Amino acid sequence: MYDVNKIREDFPILTRKVYGKPLVYLDNGATTQKPHCVVDAMVDEYYNVNANVHRGVHFLSQKATDLHEASRETVRRFLNARSTNEILFTRGTTESINLLAFSFGEAFVKEGDELVVSEMEHHSDIVPWQMLCERKGAVLRVIPMTDEGLLRLDAFADLLNERTRIVCCTHVSNVLGTVNPVKDIIRLAHGHGVPVLIDGAQSTPHFSVDVQDLDCDFFAFSGHKVYGPTGVGVLYGKEEWLDRLPPYQGGGEMIKNVSFKKTTYNELPYKFEAGTPDYIATHALAKALDYVSSIGMANIYEHEQDLTRYALARMREVEGMRIFGPEEQHDAVISFLVGNIHHLDMGTLLDRLGIAVRTGHHCAEPLMHRLGIEGTVRASFGLYNTREEVDILVAGIQRVAQMFL
Ligand code: PLP
Repeated sequence: MYDVNKIREDFPILTRKVYGKPLVYLDNGATTQKPHCVVDAMVDEYYNVNANVHRGVHFLSQKATDLHEASRETVRRFLNARSTNEILFTRGTTESINLLAFSFGEAFVKEGDELVVSEMEHHSDIVPWQMLCERKGAVLRVIPMTDEGLLRLDAFADLLNERTRIVCCTHVSNVLGTVNPVKDIIRLAHGHGVPVLIDGAQSTPHFSVDVQDLDCDFFAFSGHKVYGPTGVGVLYGKEEWLDRLPPYQGGGEMIKNVSFKKTTYNELPYKFEAGTPDYIATHALAKALDYVSSIGMANIYEHEQDLTRYALARMREVEGMRIFGPEEQHDAVISFLVGNIHHLDMGTLLDRLGIAVRTGHHCAEPLMHRLGIEGTVRASFGLYNTREEVDILVAGIQRVAQMFL
C-alpha cells in the first residue's frame, strides 16, 4: 500500500508556503526535494566523521573512506552493474557525459568519424559531442523523431555505418516524457559493433534500471534528480570499455606513480576520479538510493504512472490545451501550452498560486525547433506528489486561461 501522505512527512520543504499558499512542487524534472535521511546523513558526516578519503591512516579518514566506498557499492546495486570498478563518481549527468566525450574521443574518434545523438536530447548530451566533433573533425548525426515524439528506429538503422563510433540517447525525454526503446537502439548499434551511452537523468528517479539487462556500454545520471544531494552523479561504464579509455582529468587519486619523466595511472574506478571527491555527497546519494529502494522503484513507478494518467486526463479538460509528447509512454513529465498564452506568463501566474512548474526550452533547443515552438510549460512529478496537487494545477491553469480570454 503506497502511503503518499506518510512519504510526504519525510520531506520538510513540502509543508512550506509560497506567497501564503501551500507549495505545490511540480518541478521534479529539474531537481527533486530531499528527505530527512539524506540531509541528516550530510550533517552527521560533517559533524562526526569528516576527513579526506583514501590516503589517510587515521581513524576518521578510514571511516570516511569506508562510507564513500560503501556508497559505490550501493550505486552498483541500484544499477545492477557487475562491479564497483564500473561506477565512476562525477558531479552529475553533464560531467559524466563530458568525461566520456573527452576520454572516448581521445581514444576512438578521428576525422570523418560519425557520432549519433537523438533529436530529443538535452543540451548536456549534445554539446559535449559537438565539441568533440570540432576538436576531431567528426560529424554529428541525428536520430529524427515523429511528430508525436517517438524516435524513428527505421531512420536510426539507416544512420549506422562503418564510420559510426558511438550512439548517445536519452532514456526518457525531459520535455516529452517519451520513454525511448533503448534496448532496441542498443541492439541495433551493437549489430554494427558501436557502443551506446544512455542518459539516465530522467529515468533513474522513476523506474528501476538494470544496466546489464539493457546491455548499454555507458549510463549517466545525477544524484539531485533521485532525491540525493547536488554536486554528485555517476557514470557507469562496462569495464572492458573503461579499461581502454584514457583519464579525463589529472591529479589526486587517479595516479599510480608520478615522476617528471612519466606518470602511470591508477586502476578502475580511480583512474577517472582526480582530486578530492565529494565524499559527503556520495554518502548522501547512497542514502537517497536506499530511500527510494526501500519504497520500491516498482511502487514509485506505479504511483507516478497513476498520477500522470490522471493529470493527462484532467488537463485535457482545459480548452485550448496542447500537450506535447506521445499519447502513451508519458513518464511523469507533461509539457503543455494553452491557446496562445506565453509559457512564461503561464509559469509566472501559476507561481503566484504556489505552483512550481518550469517554463522555457528545458535545455532542449533543437527539440523546440523540431516542434516549431519557443518553449513549453512543464509539470513533472515525483514520488511525493498527489492527485490533489494535480487538481490544484488544473484549477490554476484554468484560472490563468480565463484571465487571457
Ligand atoms: N540529461 C537530461 C535528460 C536532463 O533532464 C538533465 C537535467 O535536466 C541533464 C541531462 C543534465 O543534468 P545535470 O544538470 O544534473 O548534469
